[in-house]
Amino acid sequence: MEHKPTEFVLIGAGIMSATLAILLKELNPTCNITLFEKLDVVSGESSDALNNAGTGHSGYCELNYTPEKKDGSIDVKKAIQVAKSFQLSKEFWAHLVETGHLKNPKDFIRQTPHLSFVWGEEDVEFLRKRYAELIKNPLFQEMNYSEDFETLKSWMPLVMEGRGTSQLVAATKMDEGTDVNFGSLTRSIVADLFIQKDITLKVAHEVKNLKKLENGRWEVKVKNLATSKKLKVEADFVFIGAGGGSLWLLEKSEIEEAEGFGGFPVSGEWLICKNPEIIEQHYVKVYGKAKVGAPPMSVPHLDSRVIDGKNQLLFGPFAGFSTKFLKNGSYWDLPKSIEWSNIKPMLAAGLKNLPLTKYLIEQVSQSSDEKLDALREYYPNADGKDWVEAIAGQRVQVIKKDEKEGGILQFGTEIVHSKDGTIAALLGASPGASTSVQIMLDVIEKCFPDKLKEWEPKIREMIPSYNLPESESEKWKENQKKSNQILKLND
Ligand SMILES: Cc1cc2nc3c(=O)[nH]c(=O)nc-3n(C[C@H](O)[C@H](O)[C@H](O)COP(=O)(O)OP(=O)(O)OC[C@H]3O[C@@H](n4cnc5c(N)ncnc54)[C@H](O)[C@@H]3O)c2cc1C
Repeated sequence: MEHKPTEFVLIGAGIMSATLAILLKELNPTCNITLFEKLDVVSGESSDALNNAGTGHSGYCELNYTPEKKDGSIDVKKAIQVAKSFQLSKEFWAHLVETGHLKNPKDFIRQTPHLSFVWGEEDVEFLRKRYAELIKNPLFQEMNYSEDFETLKSWMPLVMEGRGTSQLVAATKMDEGTDVNFGSLTRSIVADLFIQKDITLKVAHEVKNLKKLENGRWEVKVKNLATSKKLKVEADFVFIGAGGGSLWLLEKSEIEEAEGFGGFPVSGEWLICKNPEIIEQHYVKVYGKAKVGAPPMSVPHLDSRVIDGKNQLLFGPFAGFSTKFLKNGSYWDLPKSIEWSNIKPMLAAGLKNLPLTKYLIEQVSQSSDEKLDALREYYPNADGKDWVEAIAGQRVQVIKKDEKEGGILQFGTEIVHSKDGTIAALLGASPGASTSVQIMLDVIEKCFPDKLKEWEPKIREMIPSYNLPESESEKWKENQKKSNQILKLND
């Protein structure tokens, strides 16, 4: 068995590990990083283009980020927080473009307006109030609102065609919206890392176990899936960025902070348009309102995408249930994740989320005709022969111990790390890849607090809005304008 010392081991070659690796290399150029990926490709799971929706989540169009409070007012906190996080991502990607780490920004990010579309008195009133609240914030000042049929038709012809003019409808539009190919971005970052010194990438290498050694380092046991050879690696710091595989590895680490976490898998499915004439008529992302009980990532949307240079049109995702934690995982993933320490939170979360269970059962049992009916709510003239079904990625929602409730189901992300900061894992998947830079900065803050003082000036140089107070609105706008220019988002 090979035995190799290294400083940092990162598990999984998705957007999160790729982002952490390049951040660490920028902050500490002499560090030694080994990245293990169990598939024989980089970014083959959730980060790959067709496995996610490619929305640069900025809070512009996602109605689930702006819930209505009991008093009827709209809570916009989450939308603003997501907008700020995405701004940090854009600034970091712009830094990577400026410094030559990433070549053509058009390979991974494009301006694609973000629209929210609703119908019926209650939802129109909701959107009106949401708009009025959001435009008070400088990051949302360019947002447009309309209830005028002709205006909406010019914004999204496919959505308005074949719809009666008597129906009460409304939409908001943010031209600033983006479509991001996170798969292409991940592969470009990893390709750049690969040519740097002291970076080792091992694909077809599955991490099987982790153990804290008496010398304070971590022993990581890995299997080469091509040769079945086993190797052991010692590391000062381990990041578990294995997507749906993270929970299982976190349990293996046996750190006390891992206790009580469980996972609930939700799969996704698209309808993909195959008719180029239809695809060319839609150049925006149109998000609607989720049905009661639907998980946030199942908000229906009709999306213009550019994947590998080709225009695409996708509708979905429809939610589904599978016991797999990864698209390329095993049906034993869910049963294998159950332990004494998380059985109570998992049962409690299950019992408290019966509307979600009912929703998932309905979604799984939907026929192809029912899926087309759902599409026709957004594109009334849709013809079934133009559309094919495709499987999207798998997400594992976090289940967490809760003193009062026993267990809760969370739709966000959770960084679990040991007290001594030698290991961290990322659980959950929302808002996801768009906020990867903020999430990885959080990992750095939690696990390397003693290095932060030394690293902060460099972080600010790369990401000027890092820790910038919200009150500095002119600076936020200036940083936004600059990153948009470098990323060629206002062509
Ligand atoms: C249907 C759907 C739609 C989405 N839409 C959006 C969107 O519009 N915008 C957005 O920002 N986000 C979106 N997301 C979320 C986003 O895709 C994820 O947050 C992001 O890709 C997670 O990246 P990751 O690096 O953590 O995981 P992944 O990309 O899944 O990477 C994890 C890697 O770890 C590897 N791995 C697992 N176990 C092991 C092991 N034991 N040893 C070695 N390697 C291992 C896997 O093979 C995989 O390559 C969506 C997700 C889904 C499923």
